[in-house]
Amino acid sequence: MAGKVPVLIVGAGPAGCTLALLLAKRGVPTVVLERRTEPLMHPAAHVINARSLEIWREVSPALAGRIAALSPQPEKISVIRWSAGLDNGSLGEIDLLRDNPERVEAVRSHSPYLISHIGQHLLMPVLWEALEEEPLVDFRTGVNVTGVQRGVDSVRVSSADHGSFEGPWAVAADGANSSLRQAAGVGLQGTTLARMGSVFFHAPRVFAGPTRPLLTWIYQPHFCGLLIAHADDDYILMTAYLHDRQAIAADSGAYWSKVLPKVIGPTDHVAIRSYGTWDMTSQLAESFRTGRLLFIGDAAHRFPHTGGFGLNSGVQDAQNVAWKLAAVLSGQAEPALMDTYDTERRPVVARFADQSVSNHFLLDAVTKPFGMTNRSLHRATEAFARAPFTWLPGLLMARVCTGLTAMQMRRTALLSGTGRRAQRVAAKVRAAIPEQLEHFASTGLEFGYTYAGPLVAAERSPQPTIGAGVVEYRPTTWPGARLPHAIVREGDETGPVCDALSADGLTLITADAPAWTKIVDAVAGGFDLRVLELRAARSEAQGPLISTFEVGVEGAILVRPDGHVVWRTPNPAHLGRSDLQRYLEQQWGQYFRAGSWT
Ligand SMILES: Cc1cc2nc3c(=O)[nH]c(=O)nc-3n(C[C@H](O)[C@H](O)[C@H](O)COP(=O)(O)OP(=O)(O)OC[C@H]3O[C@@H](n4cnc5c(N)ncnc54)[C@H](O)[C@@H]3O)c2cc1C
Repeated sequence: MAGKVPVLIVGAGPAGCTLALLLAKRGVPTVVLERRTEPLMHPAAHVINARSLEIWREVSPALAGRIAALSPQPEKISVIRWSAGLDNGSLGEIDLLRDNPERVEAVRSHSPYLISHIGQHLLMPVLWEALEEEPLVDFRTGVNVTGVQRGVDSVRVSSADHGSFEGPWAVAADGANSSLRQAAGVGLQGTTLARMGSVFFHAPRVFAGPTRPLLTWIYQPHFCGLLIAHADDDYILMTAYLHDRQAIAADSGAYWSKVLPKVIGPTDHVAIRSYGTWDMTSQLAESFRTGRLLFIGDAAHRFPHTGGFGLNSGVQDAQNVAWKLAAVLSGQAEPALMDTYDTERRPVVARFADQSVSNHFLLDAVTKPFGMTNRSLHRATEAFARAPFTWLPGLLMARVCTGLTAMQMRRTALLSGTGRRAQRVAAKVRAAIPEQLEHFASTGLEFGYTYAGPLVAAERSPQPTIGAGVVEYRPTTWPGARLPHAIVREGDETGPVCDALSADGLTLITADAPAWTKIVDAVAGGFDLRVLELRAARSEAQGPLISTFEVGVEGAILVRPDGHVVWRTPNPAHLGRSDLQRYLEQQWGQYFRAGSWT
């Protein structure tokens, strides 16, 4: 056995790396076991939320800055296009910057960061380097974990070549096909929407015009799919298939060498870097915790890529787990605190799953006029995965599926026509494109996701519409919400309010610090609770800041280490005192041991 450590993390994808770094930040050592020896260079994710950058800022502003710097300028990544072929003109576009400048201005005010476009193949080397540089992370690559044994107070994971590792807690961050989840017998619930294949290639001059859209949906008789533009003239091209024996899955190299020239033109200047297949599913694990084994990231939930929630929610899971696990390991909180991970995260990721599925099917509004839909693709995917089709010879099925796909794609010939019917179809397609906005602009979900459960105080007044909107986000300090972004002054320093939060305990934020400090001294009862005076960076911004924080000049907001509000009052300290005491004793005190912080 290779020794005992506080936390074992299996999988160094975005979720596992983020968790290890956030635990190290709190002084918790981890062993990270990763079966690869190099990060995966075939990019999947590319939409990186500002919220994820805020979470990496919790590790260090330098790390978040390094990652943010990988994204091109917003004006280079703002166009989403639907086209009948790269040389065949656009069927319509959404320009996320140009179409609604007021929305963009509002988005800039919500965070120190902007939503970014960073290929996962560029992100992962940065995260791996951060793991390698962190003394509290024992990062072991080339370790394929195959087994897990759960005891009452410990977990042991094992690998055929590297022995076993034991610790009081283990976290499965081993991705969508999590072998730990399977070994622990935790099932997945949900559906497979499509089977997808993609090629990653380098090609200068793919687009003739000045615009290089971030995403281009292509509908032409010999290929229908999506082209994603990455940095440095790299691209991902993807399409759906129905059967494992079809060329795209069975002989991917030959398939893409044949198809690519039909989509982008002559390929003598093109370098294919890699290809792969994956199942587009919407699935949640039955439980995110079994004993001392936790599941985060894709090991806990898998969404369609339509919405860009997968990687981002794995980073959020890591944040939700890190401060809680650190508190449990230091003896400041009861192990039952870890139950709140599932309680808080499940409704959030279920909402993201619903939105991703809804975005996937909303695309049908664009394609239905020429007779192609994701609904029919879903029905075919489900049907071909069942008997009697699974009884038929694979090669026969592959031929049937390829024939059906070709028949579907031929319908797109209409898009290049000039007759009256073609014009009617083109008009319908154009009209459906603006409706797609919430697929690409979901600021309301990015910042507006909220937590509910035993750690979050209930309010008597009716809940405002936080998180209900997809596109728009309204900053609020409603309990459960992420604390709104603001630039504040602390002593001589100014910076984002998130930097001023306690990493381990509660922060009480108030414009009336003297009065609340006296109360806190009297009622905190040994809980780690610091007071932060709410002061705007510039005096003229104090009024708007007070109004954004919604508790007036005398009230207070209690915020936990991950920046989510747990309690608030508009009342002055002497009137809010008993309410604060009740919250600390009955809710926080349910999990945290009073006096253990000092
Ligand atoms: C086409 C596509 C586009 C996407 N676009 C976006 C997007 O724009 N935004 C977004 O947020 N998400 C997107 N996603 C989803 C995103 O890629 C995933 O949600 C994300 O990679 C999940 O991170 P993870 O750390 O949970 O798992 P992974 O990234 O899968 O990492 C798991 C790690 O565990 C390792 N591992 C696996 N098994 C073992 C084992 N037995 N032992 C040891 N190590 C193991 C793997 O090698 C890997 O390094 C997209 C996905 C696809 C397919």
